[in-house]
Amino acid sequence: VRAPLLERINQATVRRAHLSLVLRTLSAEGPSSRSVLAARTGFSKGSLAVLVADLESRGLVKGDAPEPAGVGRPGQMVGLDGSGIYGIGLEIGVDHLSVLTLNLRGEVLLERTVLLDVPSSGVQLALDVAADLAAAAADSVASAGATVLGVTVAVPGLVDCSTGRVDISVGLSWRDLPLAEALRERVRHPDWPLRVDNDVNLSAAAEHSVGAERTAADIVVLSGGFGAGAGVLSRGAVLRGAAGFAAELGHLPLDPAGHRCPCGRTGCWETMVGLPVLLRALAAPDDRIHDPAMDPQSRLAEIARRAAAGDDRTLRGLRQIGTSIGLGASVMANLFDPQVLVLGGWFAVLSDYLLEPVEAELAARVVARGTGYRVSVSTLGLQAAVLGAALVPLEALLHDPTLVPVRDNERNARSMA
Ligand SMILES: [Zn+2]
Repeated sequence: VRAPLLERINQATVRRAHLSLVLRTLSAEGPSSRSVLAARTGFSKGSLAVLVADLESRGLVKGDAPEPAGVGRPGQMVGLDGSGIYGIGLEIGVDHLSVLTLNLRGEVLLERTVLLDVPSSGVQLALDVAADLAAAAADSVASAGATVLGVTVAVPGLVDCSTGRVDISVGLSWRDLPLAEALRERVRHPDWPLRVDNDVNLSAAAEHSVGAERTAADIVVLSGGFGAGAGVLSRGAVLRGAAGFAAELGHLPLDPAGHRCPCGRTGCWETMVGLPVLLRALAAPDDRIHDPAMDPQSRLAEIARRAAAGDDRTLRGLRQIGTSIGLGASVMANLFDPQVLVLGGWFAVLSDYLLEPVEAELAARVVARGTGYRVSVSTLGLQAAVLGAALVPLEALLHDPTLVPVRDNERNARSMA
């Protein structure tokens, strides 16, 4: 005999949902007086006081947050804390690995990038470097007296998020790699939740959480890395499909008469807009821009410098690639009817020269105009993916604040009071 529905809803689940509502409201809207927070969440002042005290004892909110000048009385303002709780983001790119630690207040403690030719270095070396970066992040969090909530790894390619397995990454030359499992063996913290996700999916989530598109719920991100890809946010959630492979624009054959792709097909979008294509279009083979020792930022800065100086070959190359980016963008606009198309990664860095051809291609090809889309440029630059990765454990916390335990000293202080 099954119990009635309401009885089956566990009290702890309800409690978690209530704590989450308060925490998410403070995260989205900033510090608030208790009366405004009660009105926004629908709790009575008494219930809210209990919830705020609980969140305070977990180090997630401050019940005496500083107030904006002239508003409220001391002790009445509640604000987000979480300064001692960090998410770690790792990114494994084709030519680099990065790590970033971020707390609930949006503060970055450590940010580091190591240049490495991942496909030719082999899987083991890349995993060792990734584990070293995770260890460095863990050390910096520990020396700040803070706690790590979890690690998420961003990878260019098709990732089964439920298992952390990389199905295929053309850029990294990885196939059927149990990445989460392999990294868990190397990272010295078996208790950390370790997730793996596609880099552009994570970039899309970051645009919505901390980027310029916080108010948009239907977003398509087109991101230029070494390869190129797209991520779709639909009604505020990343569109994944059955196995997490949805919106795989990078290997859609948009130029059937075009170049052979390392994935084995011909004319994939990535062969039209990836970084190697840009570099080939822009510079002769002996140009220093091809130097593998040059870090991504410097390489893009050099291209921007040449474009600003009016270099003809650079401007022609950027226009040609902009048209191809626009072709991909128009496919995504027709399929997903977004409010906004965001140019990310190096597409954002060089957007001054790409926006015009992208917009022209969209104007010519988009049928599904809906309420009208706009094109915007990511403000997160080359860090969107690693930032999105660091955000994953923090987003999980916003939905379940009990992931962080009540602190012992708080308990002791209370029992003594
Ligand atoms: Zn391909």
